[in-house]
Amino acid sequence: MELIFLGTSAGVPTRARNVTSLLLNLQHPTRAGLWMFDCGEGTQHQMLRSPFHPGKLDKIFITHLHGDHLFGLPGLLCSRSMAGNVQPLEIYGPKGIREYVETALRLSGSWTDYPLIIEEVTAGLVVDDGLRKVTALPLNHPVECYGYRIEEHDKPGALNAAALAAQGIAPGPMFQQLKAGLTVTLDDGRTINGADYLAPAEAGKKLAIFGDTAPCAASLALAQGVNLLVHKATLEAAMEEKANSRGHSSTRQAASLAAEAGAKRLVITHISSRYDEESCMGLLAECRTIFAQTTLAEDFMTVRV
Ligand code: ZN
Repeated sequence: MELIFLGTSAGVPTRARNVTSLLLNLQHPTRAGLWMFDCGEGTQHQMLRSPFHPGKLDKIFITHLHGDHLFGLPGLLCSRSMAGNVQPLEIYGPKGIREYVETALRLSGSWTDYPLIIEEVTAGLVVDDGLRKVTALPLNHPVECYGYRIEEHDKPGALNAAALAAQGIAPGPMFQQLKAGLTVTLDDGRTINGADYLAPAEAGKKLAIFGDTAPCAASLALAQGVNLLVHKATLEAAMEEKANSRGHSSTRQAASLAAEAGAKRLVITHISSRYDEESCMGLLAECRTIFAQTTLAEDFMTVRV
């Protein structure tokens, strides 16, 4: 998987950073897909400057209905249709997302030529497509706001065909059962336990993508043991009180969460427009004193998971 940051600014765009959006490119050999998380104004323009086309999008997750996370959605939906895409698109978001999308399309005399499926999420499982699951938990923000945890299912270990061949067992239909860890009985009466010939399962990757939030208990559950944590660090540690009063987190709080949750890597984003390039380095330094594996997101940055 790879994450592509399309917008990394909080509240308003700047010349260097657009408002929030990111892409998750699933890159699976047979079940590839492109998911989006939040869609601030101008996101479709950011996509035009990236290698990704809206036609490839199959799911969009919205963390909350604040405009800097949402105002790009109607335009993106319409452009996706006008480009002739007919593949369905699923949108997940808090209560109100359906009314927002349907109203924007209706009042502007717009429509989509592809099936648009809109699901209003609640806490818990949002999606399980057989390869990975997405769960949502409510965060601490003035409006209903979710963080999403994406977990690949563990991949079963490979079957050791060479060891089976050494037992005189050639590849055939029974390999499927052995791969599933089942015991099979051969024609000669021998029983073979597939589990004895399987490599250990490979742990699926985990990541957490946060909406805006002040620190809260759900944060730890979402971030627990993830390979990558994407968290807002809107303001510096000295302005923590101000950040929290508006439902945001400081650098220190984002980094402390990553450390406490045992995350492998933290990317901070949703940076206040008050910070220029140099002061952004100060934000990063504040995080790194607590959690060394921190990266500061930039627009169009790609991170492998
Ligand atoms: Zn917000």
